[in-house]
Amino acid sequence: MILVFLGKAGTGKGTQAQLLAKETGILQASMGDILREEIAKKSALGKQIEAVVSSGKLIPDELSAQMLDVWLDEKDMSKGVVFDGFPRTIEQADMLDELLEKRNLKVDLVLNFAVPENALVKRLSERRTCKICKRVYNISTNPSKKAGVCDIDAGELLQRNDDTEEAIKARFKIYNQQINPIIEKYKGKLIEVDSQPPIAEVARQVEKILEKKK
Ligand SMILES: [Zn+2]
Repeated sequence: MILVFLGKAGTGKGTQAQLLAKETGILQASMGDILREEIAKKSALGKQIEAVVSSGKLIPDELSAQMLDVWLDEKDMSKGVVFDGFPRTIEQADMLDELLEKRNLKVDLVLNFAVPENALVKRLSERRTCKICKRVYNISTNPSKKAGVCDIDAGELLQRNDDTEEAIKARFKIYNQQINPIIEKYKGKLIEVDSQPPIAEVARQVEKILEKKK
């Protein structure tokens, strides 16, 4: 089965994809990981990608497609694939179709992990990261023992520049514009998952949906 997990940052879609992969052996295709893997290989493609990343620019869709194509060739897709955080644009969604068609596959099911925007803004704006070890805390759900200081190395806890309420809302606005045509495209195979409850509960919802689909 080919799955796509959609959702804004902070909705926990990556965590759910990871859990599912661990339990079922389905291949988790997370663009961030694929990118890091390709760069680590020091292949020609990896070097090209590294140059784009270090310039701070977005990776062009063609390059992402090429990278994904190579990656899928190398991996075991026999138990299926869950794409997490990809596609982000309608162009990428069409590209994914092409890559799957080449392998006589198609997207079977799309889960859209939803959390109300206000709750997400709160979740993300409460994130704090240790200056030294980069460990991530949340001032209300996962606070450090001593406010503003890392438990492990007493490093200062900082808020990322792009984790302010304003910056988060700006990112969501762009996300919403890009996701609408994707949701339209996947109409008929898209199911919304309420991603507000605790992780285990959301995982059970996912399990039920997949069970029905089989
Ligand atoms: Zn630390």
